[in-house]
Amino acid sequence: MFKEVKIYTIKCDECDFDVLSYSTSLGYRTTDDALSFAINEGWTETDGKHYCPECTAFIQEELEEQCKNTALEEEHEYKQATK
Ligand SMILES: [Zn+2]
Repeated sequence: MFKEVKIYTIKCDECDFDVLSYSTSLGYRTTDDALSFAINEGWTETDGKHYCPECTAFIQEELEEQCKNTALEEEHEYKQATK
């Protein structure tokens, strides 16, 4: 008999890239399987969102940039406060 099954893939929340672009597979039977495949390919999961390696690198750069800016601002505020 025919039975319909669901399959899962993961798409990048940032650029919409499909993790299965790397794969000959049509999809995974469980979200866990899809996720472990994605993680193996260098994807990351943050707050339930998924990012491809390119976007992960980009987001990390942005975060580092934000941290730097925050540090600079704090330094600036400190200098202003101690004037
Ligand atoms: Zn992406």
